Amino acid sequence: MLNLVLFGPPGAGKGTQSQKLIDHYQLVHISTGDLFRAHIGNQTELGQRVSKLIADGELVPDSVTIAMLEEEIGKHPQAKGFIFDGFPRTVAQAEALDKFLESKQTGITGVVALDVTEEELTTRIAKRKAISNRADDDAEKLKKRIEEYFGKTVHVLPYYEQQGKLTKVNGIGDIEVIFDAIKSVVDTWKP
Ligand code: AMP
Repeated sequence: MLNLVLFGPPGAGKGTQSQKLIDHYQLVHISTGDLFRAHIGNQTELGQRVSKLIADGELVPDSVTIAMLEEEIGKHPQAKGFIFDGFPRTVAQAEALDKFLESKQTGITGVVALDVTEEELTTRIAKRKAISNRADDDAEKLKKRIEEYFGKTVHVLPYYEQQGKLTKVNGIGDIEVIFDAIKSVVDTWKP
């Protein structure tokens, strides 16, 4: 299996690049943000539980997020591989993911971290807000999400670095150029 983690701060281009990677490598896309938004849209019990946290730009507790992710992986027994987008966001989530994949006789192949400056992020999210309708894209909430990223999520990077699985890719510039850079990294990992 080819199991990729696409890593980066809010607005780094994870969604855009994930879509291109799925098409190219025929992977199943798992975005925990999209899954939460679907639960909120469908007004499920989980959606009701997490909607305020998400609207405020705070992380959803690990136990809730991990359970939802494992359930989603379980829905795709035939997958050739997965691309994890927006997960893991904490070291506990990264550890849980490793354990879960190991129980399925697989593991994370590699992690691509999109490198983008904070200034570029703020500009991009301001543009996205104009079209996205995401309640968590406004300036105050975005500040919180960037804080969560630099306070909690960045610590996931050394976790994968220690495993020799981390590659950083410049996330600023033309979408196709960034995609080519990611592809050339992933092609070296292909099983
Ligand atoms: P995203 O679409 O990936 O930016 O996620 C939107 C929001 O969903 C985040 O700001 C968090 O509130 C929540 N969320 C998504 N993924 C996770 C995760 N792995 N752990 C905790 N909260 C998450």
